[in-house]
Amino acid sequence: MSSTDTHHDLVDEHIVEEARRIYPKKVDGHFRHIKWGIQFATLAIYYFLPFVRWHRGPDAPSQAVLVDFPHRRFYFFFIEIWPQEVYYLTGLLIIAALTLFLMNAVAGRIWCGYMCPQTVWTDFYMTTERWIEGDARDRIKLDNGPWTLEKIRKKIAKHFVWILIAWWTGGVWVLYFADAPTLVYKLATLQPGVGEAYLWIGILTFTTYVFAGWMREKVCLHACPWPRIQAALTDEYALNVTYRYDRGEPRMSAKAATAARAHGAAAGDCVDCGQCVAVCPTGVDIRKGAQLGCIQCGLCIDACDSVMEKLHRPTRLIGYDTEMNLKRRECGEAPIYKPLRVRTVFYAVLILAIGGFMLVTLATRDDMHVNVLHDRNPLAVRLKDGGVRNGYTLRFSNKKPDVRRFTLSVAGVPGAQTEVVGVPPDAKGQVTIEVGADQTREARVLLSTHGAPAAKGQTPIVFTVTDAETGVATEVKDVFITP
Ligand code: SF4
Ligand code: SF4
Repeated sequence: MSSTDTHHDLVDEHIVEEARRIYPKKVDGHFRHIKWGIQFATLAIYYFLPFVRWHRGPDAPSQAVLVDFPHRRFYFFFIEIWPQEVYYLTGLLIIAALTLFLMNAVAGRIWCGYMCPQTVWTDFYMTTERWIEGDARDRIKLDNGPWTLEKIRKKIAKHFVWILIAWWTGGVWVLYFADAPTLVYKLATLQPGVGEAYLWIGILTFTTYVFAGWMREKVCLHACPWPRIQAALTDEYALNVTYRYDRGEPRMSAKAATAARAHGAAAGDCVDCGQCVAVCPTGVDIRKGAQLGCIQCGLCIDACDSVMEKLHRPTRLIGYDTEMNLKRRECGEAPIYKPLRVRTVFYAVLILAIGGFMLVTLATRDDMHVNVLHDRNPLAVRLKDGGVRNGYTLRFSNKKPDVRRFTLSVAGVPGAQTEVVGVPPDAKGQVTIEVGADQTREARVLLSTHGAPAAKGQTPIVFTVTDAETGVATEVKDVFITP
């Protein structure tokens, strides 16, 4: 094929945007393969993770990832987060934000282009659309054509598949909040008590269908704040999908470029075929420079590379490059790459430090916990014998998958008597509180001085809770109030 033929052939296929609707053309290549891989992996994780089992003992759920609202727990494989440890989730959110910043500092919006759920599902929907209605040219023809039986059949098939995917996506979402096999059985057999799950499936089905099927790039362009945030965070050393003006311009047809070169005149490599725009899922012409609409998916690189290969010109006329290199090339200087910069090192160190701290504290955290709440009203009660009584509510947490027995002692007020309401002391006067596996238990504790007047005001006291089997103890402080 001659260069001229190639150019005309490609210009004929210049399919960009029609009636404000984008019809991205199919493309193959290096970055498309990476996108396939990431899409497959992320969808597989999302759809199958609720069915992965993780044994935690007879009385604990065996689902690897579970948000257990009724029992106020979050399970993630070997990690179990209790409500009072919600700071771990805060830490995870901070790590996620820093990872986004790091990705942005290294390679722009690669999150948007490859990993964002909006991108992944939109790409999934576009693939099914292409499978049913054909590539861009066929879809434009179909949409602009009359309502024939063929068109009705294809439209019904497409929306049926889209709703099916949306329904399955919403269905899987609720499985993260209950035992997946049990909930699937209950939903499938229309058992009572799962109305809330049906509601969430309905909401997620609707949002997936609308966002991935109808709104697509409009979510990235108009609804998502990340493009604006990342535009403020980026610098001239971050890799971004970039058109190399120094190589591409002056653009002209392949035939004109060959003639110009034969006469020693300047001719760019861009043949203005529009393939980079035709494959773009957001309808961006990257040759106009960096734009908010570009999600950095790299598909225009694949499109242009295949054009360059056909024209026997070097590839990567469009490629991941930095703003700094654009300027350097204009001045005839060699490109430089600086992935290690103050900001990238700073983000990486912060991620490692926070992640490492969380791992160490998770690995060494107590498997028992106690907190105390002093009675508010009344703060103290004067007894008939002249003594004083204070009341407390103690909450014991047993984070082990076995039943445990805890003994309780109180220090700080000499001669004071401890009574746990509803738990009689043994022959030695020792109170033992039993707490079920992976559970909490509340106990009312009364601390009384009899006869002898206690010092007025607040006296610091310490509750010591000891595991009766292992002897491991934990303490919690409060005060004894004498009016
Ligand atoms: S940059 Fe590449 S794909 Fe885009 S118009 Fe020029 S030659 Fe064609
Ligand atoms: S311009 Fe290129 S990298 Fe940017 S969104 Fe379009 S195809 Fe993807």
